[in-house]
Amino acid sequence: MYRSHTCGELRASHINKEVTLAGWVQKSRDKGFIVWVDLRDRYGITQLVFDEERTPKAMMEKAQNLGREFVIQVTGTVIERASKNPNIPTGDIEILVSELTVLNEALLPPFTIEDKTDGGEDIRMKYRYLDIRRNPVKNSLIFRHKVTQEVRNYLSKEGFIEVETPYLIKSTPEGARDFVVPSRMNQGQFYALPQSPQTFKQLLMVGGMDKYFQIVKCFRDEDLRADRQPEFTQIDCEMAFVEQEDILNAFEGLTRHLLKEVNGVEIDQFPRMLYDDAMRLYGNDKPDIRFGMAFGELNEVAQHKDFGVFNSAELVVGIAVPGGNAYTRKEIDQLIDWVKRPQIGALGMVYCRCNDDGTYKSSVDKFYDQDDLAKWAEATGAKAGDLICVLSGDKNKVRAQLSALRMELAERLGLRNPNEFAPLWVMDFPLLEWDEETERYHAMHHPFTSPKPGQLELLATNPGEVKANAYDLVLNGNEIGGGSIRIHDKKTQALMFDYLGFTEEEAKAQFGFLMNAFEYGAPPHGGLAFGLDRLVAILGGQETIRDFIAFPKNNAGRDVMIDAPAPIDNKQLEELSLKLNLKS
Ligand code: ASP
Repeated sequence: MYRSHTCGELRASHINKEVTLAGWVQKSRDKGFIVWVDLRDRYGITQLVFDEERTPKAMMEKAQNLGREFVIQVTGTVIERASKNPNIPTGDIEILVSELTVLNEALLPPFTIEDKTDGGEDIRMKYRYLDIRRNPVKNSLIFRHKVTQEVRNYLSKEGFIEVETPYLIKSTPEGARDFVVPSRMNQGQFYALPQSPQTFKQLLMVGGMDKYFQIVKCFRDEDLRADRQPEFTQIDCEMAFVEQEDILNAFEGLTRHLLKEVNGVEIDQFPRMLYDDAMRLYGNDKPDIRFGMAFGELNEVAQHKDFGVFNSAELVVGIAVPGGNAYTRKEIDQLIDWVKRPQIGALGMVYCRCNDDGTYKSSVDKFYDQDDLAKWAEATGAKAGDLICVLSGDKNKVRAQLSALRMELAERLGLRNPNEFAPLWVMDFPLLEWDEETERYHAMHHPFTSPKPGQLELLATNPGEVKANAYDLVLNGNEIGGGSIRIHDKKTQALMFDYLGFTEEEAKAQFGFLMNAFEYGAPPHGGLAFGLDRLVAILGGQETIRDFIAFPKNNAGRDVMIDAPAPIDNKQLEELSLKLNLKS
């Protein structure tokens, strides 16, 4: 038996008990006549004591030579501590050691294994196994475990069956690039790793599984934007014989359950917002509604004066910054510079101070009088003491710019409290999305998403206007899940493929199996998937998902610990009949 107790377990009630512990040396303090060692394992830290009077000389020396992160086993008696440490649960006791075994020595770690470490991100990624010994990472992984357990409990109780689907498949339609795997047994052919189990879960519905879920890895070969991973985990779900409302209720229930069990937060009904309203009011399909600052469109009240910039703009839109009139001229100039940075791309910003005495002072006083500005205040909900920030230009661009400004200001004003949870369903997404690069429409969600009833005809005349039975769950300004009601008849599916520019042959080659399945009695079905990594990070009150992933990749998609990806040797290439043609 390596240990009788863990390092987080012993209390005053154990005093005088003989115990055996095992763990890592967090640190030791050597006063010459007395040595204290902090022994750490997953469960906590227990203080060990060796002293001249009671410890044999040889063991005393051994204790003095213990290095950081040595793995040791000790047997000893639990005694009361002279000076107690109220900050740790084992702080009332220490172990007077009678036997000490070094199970394994350790090199000096490249960074300190403490809550506040001196190691930078890169070095900690390289030695991730050491980083995992630190509380912030360890606790995040334990937290993730708790969330996944609760997901499994809840969904199982609700009658969902967890089914595994394969990883070696062929291209899935989530719109990203596939990771591919060459097949040795089928020379010249490749598997694709799933971007999601989308087609399989639909086939499970055709197979009569009725309610499916899976906590599953998905792979998307995308250029990594901040805080994305090439492999990530979804809570993937599908249900048969359901309408949109059934799915929203089921997964609102799951989210409510998680918030309650994991965070102790009870939230009633989640608010719902149409996609069009989210774009109009927040310039964003995943609005953070922990705070207000909704957009006020100003075309009616700001155009047709003599201000050419506004007159020529498709959209003039503003927000009221609470208390923003307190900003100095310099601070406002800095805000203007902020929106003009290339990442945001605004050409400029007009502002209007709302003075305490009810008057207004704008940067365009030449064109607008007090009555005009009062209308701006009304449209943006600005009160005395606020600052109205106004952007103008192309509708889509200006919405994105003002949305970025809204988030930045909220951050500065401390309005994004990580311990507050504001879920929101965003509904009725467009079915299609215009792609500038290819100059054609793409499925906004994926090509199996069903249009809203009666809207199929609009495809021919007004494709951009067609709305889908598609929904996202947003939490604190992050999309944590999304899904749709699916097309379940072959004819509509063929029409969609046709519309999306697949020839019949292409559609057949890529998704023929699904179209065939639809000929054998596909039930009406729909589902959604949650991004588990992000969900866990938000519930854990953090913005970054990396700490919640045991072995994450860096921004270049590399695992710097195992050094992957890496070249393979020629023999392996030969076996696969592959030849490299690298552009140097
Ligand atoms: N497969 C979709 C996704 O990964 C989710 C869904 O439609 O259920 O985004």
